[in-house]
Amino acid sequence: MPPRNQAQRTAAPLIPEKPTLSKLRDAAARCRACDLWKKATQTVFGEGASRPSLMLIGEQPGDKEDLAGHPFVGPAGHVLDEALAAAGIDRSDVYLTNVVKHFNWVPAQRGKRRIHKKPRYSEIKACRPWLDAEIAVTRPPVIVCLGATAAQSLLGREFSVMRDRGKFVPSELAPFVMATVHPSSILRAPDDASRQTQKQAFIVDLRIAAAQITKLRRAA
Ligand code: SF4
Repeated sequence: MPPRNQAQRTAAPLIPEKPTLSKLRDAAARCRACDLWKKATQTVFGEGASRPSLMLIGEQPGDKEDLAGHPFVGPAGHVLDEALAAAGIDRSDVYLTNVVKHFNWVPAQRGKRRIHKKPRYSEIKACRPWLDAEIAVTRPPVIVCLGATAAQSLLGREFSVMRDRGKFVPSELAPFVMATVHPSSILRAPDDASRQTQKQAFIVDLRIAAAQITKLRRAA
């Protein structure tokens, strides 16, 4: 169990008055509300359309994102780009972010690689005000959580991505909210055939979001 003061740490006091994306990004660059900043290169804040049709929320920046300072620019980001294109979703109409804004990692047993480490509940909670502010400012009509960490932290610990992927669920986050796998899980598939199968299933889920975006546009 973390010390009491650590369990209560939160980025909430850092959220600027009358927030905009650029004010939030500037403030988050100085965030020290949990310990994840210590090992990371920089804060990787969300990026994309200021009035997106779709917000995609992952777990945390990866190694490449940490170095570049931008979300979803590494191998998982390439898988995501291809899947978005296949689903007919324009990336310029999307806002991409993570539940945690600093890269959490441990050194590889051999070599210099930095191995992704899942953030703790206390770290996700500390970082949540940034995500809430991003949602409040951009007001996406459709949100898709990518992977179990994002889905369970936003939709409840009982949420199962395998059971409930591709289905809209009631949520206060946005009018239409669903979850699917994280694109990095596709990269971990044991062989090409299963990678292709998983990628197709990911595209099917994103097409459900795309269809909802089209419906909303037609109704507007
Ligand atoms: S992970 Fe989030 S709460 Fe923790 S230091 Fe980084 S920005 Fe702040």
